[in-house]
Order: sequence, then C-alpha cells, then structure tokens
Amino acid sequence: DKWVYTFGDGAAEGRAGDRNLLGGKGANLAEMCSLGLPVPPGFTITTEACNRYYANGKSYPEGLERQVDTALEHIAKLTGRRFGDPEKLLLVSVRSGARASMPGMMDTVLNLGLNDETVLALAKDAEDPRFAWDSYRRFIGMYANVVLDLDHEEFDEILGDEKARAGVELDTELSAKDLERVASLYKKKVEEETGEPFPQSPRDQLWGAIGAVFSSWMNHRAITYRRLHDIPESWGTAVNVQAMVFGNMGETSATGVAFTRNPSTGEKALYGEFLVNAQGEDVVAGIRTPQNITEVARIAAGSDKPSLEKLMPETYRSFIDIANRLEKHYRDMQDLEFTVERGKLWMLQTRSGKRTARAALRAAVEMAGEGLITEDEAVARIDPASLDQLLHPTIDPKAERNVVATGLPASPGAATGEIVFSSDAAEDARAQGKKVILVRAETSPEDIHGMHASEGILTTRGGMTSHAAVVARGMGKPCVSGAGGLRVDARAETLTAAGQIFRKGDVITIDGGSGQVLKGAVAMVQPELSGDFAKIMEWADSKRRMKVRSNAETPADARAARSFGAEGIGLCRTEHMFFDATRIVAVREMILADTEEGRRTALAKLLPMQKSDFAELFEIMAGLPVTIRLLDPPLHEFLPHSEEEIAEVAAAMNVETDRLRERADALHEFNPMLGHRGCRLAVSYPEIAEMQARAIFEAATEAAQASGKPIVPEIMVPLVGLKSELDFVKARIDAVAREVAAETGTRLDYLVGTMIELPRAALQAGSIAHSAEFFSFGTNDLTQTTFGISRDDASSFLDVYRRKGIVEQDPFVSLDQEGVGELVQIAAERGRKTRKAIKLGICGEHGGDPASIHFCEEVGLDYVSCSPFRVPIARLAAAQAAI
Ligand code: PEP
Ligand code: MG
Repeated sequence: DKWVYTFGDGAAEGRAGDRNLLGGKGANLAEMCSLGLPVPPGFTITTEACNRYYANGKSYPEGLERQVDTALEHIAKLTGRRFGDPEKLLLVSVRSGARASMPGMMDTVLNLGLNDETVLALAKDAEDPRFAWDSYRRFIGMYANVVLDLDHEEFDEILGDEKARAGVELDTELSAKDLERVASLYKKKVEEETGEPFPQSPRDQLWGAIGAVFSSWMNHRAITYRRLHDIPESWGTAVNVQAMVFGNMGETSATGVAFTRNPSTGEKALYGEFLVNAQGEDVVAGIRTPQNITEVARIAAGSDKPSLEKLMPETYRSFIDIANRLEKHYRDMQDLEFTVERGKLWMLQTRSGKRTARAALRAAVEMAGEGLITEDEAVARIDPASLDQLLHPTIDPKAERNVVATGLPASPGAATGEIVFSSDAAEDARAQGKKVILVRAETSPEDIHGMHASEGILTTRGGMTSHAAVVARGMGKPCVSGAGGLRVDARAETLTAAGQIFRKGDVITIDGGSGQVLKGAVAMVQPELSGDFAKIMEWADSKRRMKVRSNAETPADARAARSFGAEGIGLCRTEHMFFDATRIVAVREMILADTEEGRRTALAKLLPMQKSDFAELFEIMAGLPVTIRLLDPPLHEFLPHSEEEIAEVAAAMNVETDRLRERADALHEFNPMLGHRGCRLAVSYPEIAEMQARAIFEAATEAAQASGKPIVPEIMVPLVGLKSELDFVKARIDAVAREVAAETGTRLDYLVGTMIELPRAALQAGSIAHSAEFFSFGTNDLTQTTFGISRDDASSFLDVYRRKGIVEQDPFVSLDQEGVGELVQIAAERGRKTRKAIKLGICGEHGGDPASIHFCEEVGLDYVSCSPFRVPIARLAAAQAAI
C-alpha cells in the first residue's frame, strides 16, 4: 500500500483532485509543484494512513516508516540536505491537512530536527546565532504544546519574563544569548512537566509530531468543529512534512498570508498581511500587528508601516504573479500562505478562500462577469446556508453611535449583548437565554464553543486573519478584532475603553462592518437584498425547477415571505391564528363545549375573524397559491391552565367554573401529539372544519371579486392515516362549497389535499390519491412517527446521539433520506401512479434545509415550503439541486 506521496522541484505524485486522499493542503501543495511554483519539497502521508492508524488501535500501518524514510531521501536529493545530519542540516515542518480546512483546529510544528547539537550547526550555517536560537526556542515551545500537550501559556510566561529581564518589548529585540536562555528554560520546563528530557533525536521528534497530528484528529476541539460543520470523522487527516524555509532569517525574510480578493467584501483586490523576520504562526496569532501587502491597502488602513510592495518590490511582483496565476488556475479566490527567506519567495499553501456571504456573492458575480466561471458555477459556488448572514441586521444609519473603541471590521453584521470574558461564561449565559458578546484579548481553538454561544466576538489583538476573525466569518457572526484601544482584564472581568470601565453583564454593541465598539444597545435595520444578492437570485431562479413557497399565517410573515421571493403559501397553520388574545377565549369555548350547539355558538364568533385573516392572506399573495390547513392542534396547547383562564372561559360560556374544570380535565391526554388532533378533530366535530371551509370560500370569493383575479384556495387536511378519514372531511368541505356557491352565485374553484405525515398515509398514498388532489409532506410529524421519537423531547438525547456518533445529523433538521426519505419516495410514486398530475410539496422544517431540498429535487416534488427567512436559501438550494 502507498501511504506517502512526494512533491518538489516541479513534480509531484499527487494533484489537486486528490484531496480526499492527501487532504486539502497536501493536494494543493502537489498541484502548485506541478505548476512549477516555488514550493519547498516534501511529502504527504495520506488520510488513509490516519484511518488505518485508528483502525489498528493507534499503531502505524505496515510499510509507513519505510516509505517515510524513502521520502526523506527524496527531500535530501532535492535540497542537498539530510535530516539529522549536522553537516548538511535539514529541518522540516509537520502540518496536518484534512479534506476540508479546519482553521486552527489542527496543529503545526516548525523547525523540527533541531537539538542541542544541530542548533549550533544552524547558527554556523546561517551565520546568525540569533536566528538559530530563535528557531530552536520556537520549536521547543511548539513541540511541547502540540506533541507533549503542555500548556503554551507557561512557555509564553517564560518568554515574557525574559523580555522583561532584557528590558525589551518585542520578541525580535531579544538577543541570541537571551534566546539561548529561553530555549534552555523551555527544556527545563518540559522536563519538569513530563519527567523526561526534551527529545534530542530528530527521528523521535518526527514520529512524535506525526503521531500528534493523527491524535489531534480526535482532540476535543477537532471533534467540536466537525460536529458544528457536519464533517464526518471517517475522513481522517493527512500529514504534510516539508523542508523548512525561514521567514525569521532577518530583515530580508518575512512570512505572510493573503487572499486574492477581499474576503470580507469580495472586492477584486489582493488583500493580505505579513511580518518581517517572523515565522509561520506569528501573523495569525496576533503577537505583532502585521503590515499590509499592497500600498493601496496600507493607505486605506492608514498604517505607517511599509507595505511589502514598498519594502521588497521584486518579491512583491513575483508574489502578485503567482497569486493571479493560482486564481486563474483554480478559477476561484485563493487564500495563500508564503514565506520569504532572504529575498526568495516560497509558497506554503493555497486553498479556496473562506469568505463572508457578501464577499461570496460579489466574487461569484464578478468572476462570472470576468468569464472566469459560468453563471451555473456562480450559483453553485454560494453556500445557501451562508445567505443567512445577509439577513442579519446592521446598525441603523440614523442611530446615535456612542463609540468607545474601533478595531478591524473582521466579520460583518452588528450584534448587541452582555459582555462575557470567557467561553464557558458565554455558554452559561446562553443557556439562561441571554445574548452575549464574547470579549477576549484573542481567541484560540479552545474558544469555539464560546464563540458559538455568542452573538458576536470582540478581541483586542490580532488582524483580519486572526483566529477570531477567520472563525467568526465561518460562523457568520459579527466580529471586531484587534481593537487595540481596549484593555481586557479577564481575571478581574473588566473591559476598559476610553476611560470607562465595563463589567461582565454590561451591554455593548459591535459593528463588524465598521469595526466600531459601541456602548449600550443600538437600533438596527434589516439589510437590503439587492445588488449581487439579487443577481445571484435571478440566475438561481432561472435554473430551478421546483417552486419555493413559504409557511406563513400572519400578514407580516406573508409579506416577509413575498419580499424574499416566495411563490405562494405552502402551509398556513390555522391554529396559530387562534392564539391571539382577542380570540383565545372563543377558541377555548369551542374546544370545551360539550354539545354541538355550544361549539356552534363559539364557531359563529370565530367565523368572521377567520374570514378576515384569509382575505388578507389572499390579498397579500395576489393570486399565488395559498394552502390552508384545517385545525391541527394537539388539544393541550389550547386548554386553559390557570384558575384565571378557566374563570374567563366559564364566564364567556356561562357555566360553572367547576364544571368547566372537569371538562378540561377530561380532555387531558397522555400523549397529545398522537391524540385527538389533526383530521380526528374534524371527524369528531365536523362543524369546526365546516366553519373553516366557509371562512376560506367566502374570503376567496370576496378577494377574487375585489381583485378581478381568480383565487383557487388549497384546503389541506392534516394527520390523515386512512383514506376514509379524508373522504369524510372532504365531503363536508364539498358540501360547504356548494352552499357558498349557491349563496354567492359564483363558481368556486378549489383543491382538497392532504398532509402526508404518518407512515400509513405514505404507504397507502396510492389509495389516498384517489381523493387527494395534492400531497404536502409534513416531515416534522413524519420524522416523529417514523422514528417514534417525540419531536418535542428529542433534543435531550439526540445531542448525545450525535456526540456518540449514533446519528450524524438531527433528523428533525436534515431529512433522514434513507428511512423517512424512503417513505416520501414511496408516497410520491404511489400517489402519481393513481393521479398523474398530483401536486407534491413539502412543508416540514426540512423544506428550508439545503440537503433535504436536494432530496426533494431527486424525488421530483413540485415545490418546497419553508419559513420566510429561509426562502432565499431554498431558492438557491433548489437551483443548485437542478444544475
Ligand atoms: C409537519 O408535521 O411536518 C408539519 C408541517 O406540520 P406541523 O409542524 O404543524 O405539525
Ligand atoms: Mg404535522
């Protein structure tokens, strides 16, 4: 078996298409090599080796060690250096690289191969002892943290003490002697903590690092990240081992990161940062504030530190060339890492750049305009779920801004919340229903859960590519980073800004679009959905086959749905219309009446209200289809609970409170979700269905007359399991239709259909379709009844299921395509067999979930229906499914 793939000097065994096997980083390193770009030679250990390592109880697969030796020989041949040989010293970096990029999740070790002996060789070789000791102390620090699992703060403390002792502020001001001391204190620390001396054999170091990369696939942070991003554990990670190049060899050396377009706005302008005389992680860790790459960006940022363009013009030009080439080659915005060693440029990574939703839209539209990609590709490139970010509020331009500090606009959108200073505090506050802003000096991968629990993130250190910025953009959360004017004292839980002290629980607002930090809560506005957004939507709409409707019952929801582009209402849950304070008493009267007459009295009160509800919906939807579902409440949702409520209903019904309480008790059900609800209510109390049908028909007739356009209401019967249930209810609806037609002297067009939300209905769809003119899949109940899992109680154990890998996804969020999906498929097929033109839709929550929408396209549904704010997501996902 082949576990190791080499690359270097214009050739590689892998290529970009091998990302499953080599991980994203390894595959792209190979590709860049083949393109003839300057990449330090190295090799990639495959993700399969990682999987085999876990399958074998954490031991390396047969042949791996030999293949690594051969690959080290390969590097030796290309560089003239040999691993572990002090005469011709070769140092390597060891990095992880999974299939999908997991920023900050996995670990890197640089300068590997240094020990007490080779550090001297390096000093001699580089003619610079300072550089050698700087590299060695970095290596020990990284190795201790990543491989030996020691806390990096203890090492930071040693470095901090040394700087204080030497009376300097920056790492770069420490002398060779200072750094030598740091290295030896680091080693002492390692021995104290682990009981063993720091490993001196380069070979042991290498295998320690490889093992650590594999292990980090299963560390807490990686597992959390995978769970949040639905990345399967079975992917594994690759390991990349590469000859070191040094950005810390003095003033002609540097290291940096760049995007070929602005990752925040999408603007076509190279965007990046670098540090002179620095190594790898320094830029993203926010230890020193980085410099801009281009002059334009430097001027825009008002920075007085020279740009790369000014400082190293030749290197800059070759870098720009390479960046352009890579963007053309990959036909996408790239995220690049590079190092300059004594004026020579080396590429360390390229990958498709993470971007905000706004940037993704702009870049896609512009790349299509440039002819770099097609319109189809532009549509396919946008992650539908990310559109959610654009629906975030921003600060009202008219609102007063009490600005206490300004940092970098690291991730767009604005957020208000109470200050918390730790990720655990963020989680606790969130659990109590509070909205919080996580305030930190900087974030690290250990903060993922806290960032997730927060409305927004504020850091005082770090640039646009800092951990906080990258992760917040990925999560679609507002973030302001590097707000240097703020002082955070995490221990005292205070934030000092502009002479004011803020404490835990104080409210602030951050504006991720401008980088401002504001005191208190600030008025927000909803975003404009025009420009690039509208363009992509227009392209998407021209490509999709399925229609997109919305679940809506209030006029506000219906209007929002239309403004987001809904093409009708797929589900109007009429019970939601009954909670209004002005009607709940009449609704309770209707439910608690023990005679038909009593019910009819209450229904007579509800009829005009329902009629005006429907008339308004028909008017807003202006001739678009509207599906109205008959009453479907598990009854307990409506029963009066408090003595006060009972007294109120008793008075309205003119009965004794005690009698009413008895009646309410009698209606108590052990399992209301499977109880007297859905069409069962219409069977017991047909007058309820009749009232609703009348309200619908009268409203439709009047709305049609008013607008001069025909209205064809779709009446939907819930929770049908038997064809005979549907037939019973349909007969009542048809009878009311005949009455209303006679009374108004008009012709009534309407459809009667059913929800498919019980397994029996799905299986018997062929028979039910004789009576139903449409099916709407109620996948909330269908999931509940297929799994036998209560939709209201599931979260308590489904979380455990996900963590333990029993299920990969919550089936109430993303359709279980195998099981529930099979029932949907069966029902669609059998329904169509009976009634060729039967209209098929979905109105469970899954109607707004991109993966489930793909499934709906495969089954050939006619439309999906989702909540108003998900309509744009569904339009895009439906287009992607059709492309
Ligand atoms: C469903 O069950 O999927 C559905 C849409 O109905 P409800 O959520 O109202 O039960
Ligand atoms: Mg339902």
